[in-house]
Amino acid sequence: MSGPRFVPLTCPTCGGNLLGRAPDVVACCPPCGGAWRVDGPAPAPLRVLAVAGDLHDVGGQPLALPFWATSRAAVPAFESARPLSLARAATGCLARWSARPGLGTPPPIGVRLAPATAARLARLADLPWDDDGEPALLSVPARLAGARLHVAGLDLPCFAEDVSELGAILSRLESVRRS
Ligand SMILES: [Zn+2]
Repeated sequence: MSGPRFVPLTCPTCGGNLLGRAPDVVACCPPCGGAWRVDGPAPAPLRVLAVAGDLHDVGGQPLALPFWATSRAAVPAFESARPLSLARAATGCLARWSARPGLGTPPPIGVRLAPATAARLARLADLPWDDDGEPALLSVPARLAGARLHVAGLDLPCFAEDVSELGAILSRLESVRRS
């Protein structure tokens, strides 16, 4: 199995190194807190919001899961075997999640689904979706403790398998932390 391929990209705002892997549709800039669509001809800025909470008490390794969010629904932006259940659970959290502008720490990496795919998933999950305008990228704190994946505010029990590329995401965050 070949490892992930990293594409060096520079943040158009601050010149910092963007975090993202070759197949990702979004790259994050931790220095300035920006996020960019990188699946088009040129990086395009995104509105990014971070949900509060760090799940200290459950221990384990911290990460942040990316979702696409409108004012009415939230859909996973990462690849998952059960995106519809996660979309319904996350949409149920929207009213009680407290989110502020910015990436949060650690940054939400592993965005593999574009907003158009999120809109399709929302329709499949019978969720309302505002098709006009780009959704925001919502960073949701999570921690992996054993096989259990704890996601801030989510009622749905989650497991490591729910994020298809969790191993790659965690190793990328680890390498960023060490650099
Ligand atoms: Zn930047």
